[in-house]
Amino acid sequence: MLKGRHHYLCLARLEASRVEEQQEQDGLFDDGPKWVAAAGRLAAQITRVRDWADQTETGDRSELDPGVDDMVWRTVSTPARECVGAMRCPFGAECHAEAARQRARDSDIVVTKPRAAGGGHGDDLRRRAAHPARARAADH
Ligand code: SF4
Repeated sequence: MLKGRHHYLCLARLEASRVEEQQEQDGLFDDGPKWVAAAGRLAAQITRVRDWADQTETGDRSELDPGVDDMVWRTVSTPARECVGAMRCPFGAECHAEAARQRARDSDIVVTKPRAAGGGHGDDLRRRAAHPARARAADH
């Protein structure tokens, strides 16, 4: 099952979140006690995501149990339109979303939602799903 890029942990965002977290915490704690509890809860979730990041082989959000708030997940994932691409990303070689796409390319049957595949590779993946033999032939 190939999912949209934002369903996978983005290692570049995860790294960036370490820097942003410190800056945001400084601002949150300056704003008063009502933010302290919220900041603590979100920080605990971020910590859990980081621990999970060291263990997960897929980076698929659905495997993170218990889950985290959407707000937290947005800090460690990236929608396709914001991804710089594996060739330009310092984490491209380890990228979970790219690995999922590679597994899909290697499969004869791919299950995906139209938006998950998007254009480009997505068109190719949908062709494979509909006509795997023809798609394999076109590769050669
Ligand atoms: S290639 Fe895109 S999705 Fe993958 S780690 Fe880099 S920025 Fe994130």
